[in-house]
Amino acid sequence: MTSPNHDMIECPFEADVLDALASARWPERVDAGLTQHVASCGICQDVIAVAAAMQDDKDAAWREANVPSSGQMWWRAEMRVRHEAIRAASRPITFAYIAAASIALTLMASVGWFAWPAMHGFLSAIASTQVSELSSPVILPLLVALGALLVVAPVALYLVLSDE
Ligand SMILES: [Zn+2]
Repeated sequence: MTSPNHDMIECPFEADVLDALASARWPERVDAGLTQHVASCGICQDVIAVAAAMQDDKDAAWREANVPSSGQMWWRAEMRVRHEAIRAASRPITFAYIAAASIALTLMASVGWFAWPAMHGFLSAIASTQVSELSSPVILPLLVALGALLVVAPVALYLVLSDE
């Protein structure tokens, strides 16, 4: 079994596999050579996996009728776009996730670091019931800002992660 090259995007047999899929010859009525190749080729296996997913959508449409050649061409173009989108999507999502998580962690750490003295002052003000401390012009805005950040940070994280 030859090890598939995961950096490779193109496979010379991909068109053959697409032809076999489009004309409903896969997997019974294809050359043994092609079957053997697919068994050892990650790209062609992806093509078949995507095709299987698309068959769920368009089963009746392209199986029952004889798909006209323009439809086949559209289908193959669509296949290629989805195939490449799936490959391209996996890395940026991981990167965006790590970036967003790092930003959120840094944000929370710095907010915690800077807010702690204010929190401490606020708590001791409550403890000693010095109401004048509560109306300090510095502490209240800090607490409001802290509360806003705690609300905004998860929302921002969600927006970043759901972008793709
Ligand atoms: Zn291949």
